[in-house]
Amino acid sequence: MNQVIGHYISGQHIRDSQHTGPVFNPSTRAEIARCAYADAATVARAVQAATSSNAKNWAKASHAARLQVIYKLRELMIARTDELAEIIGREHGKTILDAKGEIGRAIEGIEFACNAPHVTKGEYARNVAGDIDVFSIRVPVGVVGCITPFNFPIMIPAVMMAMAVSVGNAIVWKPSEKVPSAALFFAELWKEAGLPDDVFNIVQGDKVTVDAMLEHPDIAAISFVGSTQIGEYVYQKGTSHNKRVAAFTGGKNHMVVMPDADLEAAANAFVSAGFGSASQRCMAVSLLLPVGEETALKLRELVIEKTKTLSMGAYNDPTADFGAVISAQSKQTVLQAIDQCVADGAELILDGRAYQHPIHQNGYYIGPTLFDHVTTEMDFYKQEVFGPARGMMRVSSLDEAIDVTNRHEFGNGSVIFTRDGKTANRFFMEVESGMVGVNVPVPLPVSYFNFGGLRRSKFGESHLYGPDAARFYTKLKTISQKWPDAVEQDQAISLAFKIT
Ligand code: NAD
Repeated sequence: MNQVIGHYISGQHIRDSQHTGPVFNPSTRAEIARCAYADAATVARAVQAATSSNAKNWAKASHAARLQVIYKLRELMIARTDELAEIIGREHGKTILDAKGEIGRAIEGIEFACNAPHVTKGEYARNVAGDIDVFSIRVPVGVVGCITPFNFPIMIPAVMMAMAVSVGNAIVWKPSEKVPSAALFFAELWKEAGLPDDVFNIVQGDKVTVDAMLEHPDIAAISFVGSTQIGEYVYQKGTSHNKRVAAFTGGKNHMVVMPDADLEAAANAFVSAGFGSASQRCMAVSLLLPVGEETALKLRELVIEKTKTLSMGAYNDPTADFGAVISAQSKQTVLQAIDQCVADGAELILDGRAYQHPIHQNGYYIGPTLFDHVTTEMDFYKQEVFGPARGMMRVSSLDEAIDVTNRHEFGNGSVIFTRDGKTANRFFMEVESGMVGVNVPVPLPVSYFNFGGLRRSKFGESHLYGPDAARFYTKLKTISQKWPDAVEQDQAISLAFKIT
């Protein structure tokens, strides 16, 4: 029997769940562990910890005291990057290099959380009327429930939780059941950094666990990242239980290439942002939109040539450009999307369906797959394909490229390659995407800018990181204050609403 990866509540590891599910190494398909699935009672236990006096004292601690823990967490993340990258790679399948890149972005999020006092400090107005001073403060919301996807086992959780904890909240986190181990490693780092027990709790699990979190009256806010279908459900159910919810969901990111662009740079960007991490990124470029026939023909040749050089391999194979997809089901879904696209009449120019790794023949590998002549009627355009199958779509003008980009239900990211400032300006003003790139492959902003898509790529008004995240994890109070000696001078009572 494989070891059970359990929950973490009040600084203790708990493995007594009745239900467990398998955890695989996608590179080989070996079942490497079982993941405990929390029921409502275990969720209640975690929430009880997160509302304990220990957790409340954390909310009352000074900014300076809380920041000492965040600083230390950063140091530990840097010192233990190699171990963490191994844990991520083994359960996710991404290469060690990519896992280290993810950890780097997680550290960047932790660094931004050190700005919590600055981004949450309030406003002050002296003597607004009759010696009354008014000021606003931001206080922690209380317990934050975090629900995270498989594709970034540490970056998304660290970005969310570093800020939520930094401003004084306690956490109940449900990681993806496909990649549960990075969460326990993260718990170890928090503990070593000096975070009091009860502030950071993990409940592993599935829908049952998520539902229990959404229904629990003592969870004040839910941060969700994952697919659009589940995100919409979490948003609706969470808000109906009177929680604030921020849900960051699917993407279908278009890359427009103008005739004047540096085509070599555009092709490099498409291949790296398109196939990196086996295309399992919400900000992966999915569709290439060259403007004009000549651009399309030249770009197609460049992209084919570069894509053909990509190599697949196990997460710990240093020669691999990308690894396996996350699961057998995911592989099946991607293969079906490719079959459907062939049936719908797109031109299959690179076919990775039959790819088999020479050693790990059971691993969930798919070779890089490329279509040309994808159209907006095809499912391949409409769906988020979370695996290494990308498409080209022919468009004749910038107008058409913007129209195609904006017609999609998702609005996470989009990119333009051009040498013309006016064209770039028009593009970023008119596309309905939350993150826009100009001559850059992945427009994932640095952590001190707000991150979040538009349309059905995001539910709720907040952002995943940046100053907006700090606001999401705090509630605003406005205080009007007058001191006794001033009160004494103002003895008369008036019931009228007045400014004096
Ligand atoms: P997912 O929606 O399957 O799972 C996300 C979380 O929801 C997991 O913790 C999972 O256990 C839980 N969950 C799954 N089914 C559930 C159900 N029926 N009810 C309640 N909870 C459920 O997503 P995933 O496959 O883990 O991640 C990939 C998706 O996440 C992609 O769509 C990707 O675009 C998206 N994503 C978005 C962003 C962003 O910032 N917009 C970032 C990363 C990933």
